[in-house]
Amino acid sequence: MDRPLPQPDQDTEFFWEGLRRRELLIQHCDECGHWIHYPKPACPRCGGTRVKPKAVSGRGVVHTYTVTHNAVPGFEPPFAVVLVDLEEQKGLRLVSNLIGVPPGDVAIGTPVEVVFTDVAPDVVLPLFKVRET
Ligand SMILES: [Zn+2]
Repeated sequence: MDRPLPQPDQDTEFFWEGLRRRELLIQHCDECGHWIHYPKPACPRCGGTRVKPKAVSGRGVVHTYTVTHNAVPGFEPPFAVVLVDLEEQKGLRLVSNLIGVPPGDVAIGTPVEVVFTDVAPDVVLPLFKVRET
């Protein structure tokens, strides 16, 4: 079985569309400068509704991770699921996979960067690899 694919809706379509253009777009509040993920209709910090997608660098560090040893449809165990702290804002985090590293070598604090990964026609995922510092 193939990896499960995202099911974009009107709130998340910009995110997946950006990935197809090799851009990692995160919602940003024009009123207070707060970054927002997952997408919301209003800023959770100031309540402002002028929230728009904006490109981020794709750089961050592994905030935490887990290694899955069980069989999961579409994934070859063992594999690492990481929570990446993006550099734009403390606590701005994405769930993803770390690629190119044996799961046993993943560590909290590892610098990472996004890898735009084609997984199906018109479907690009923001996976991460270790970043040289
Ligand atoms: Zn705001």
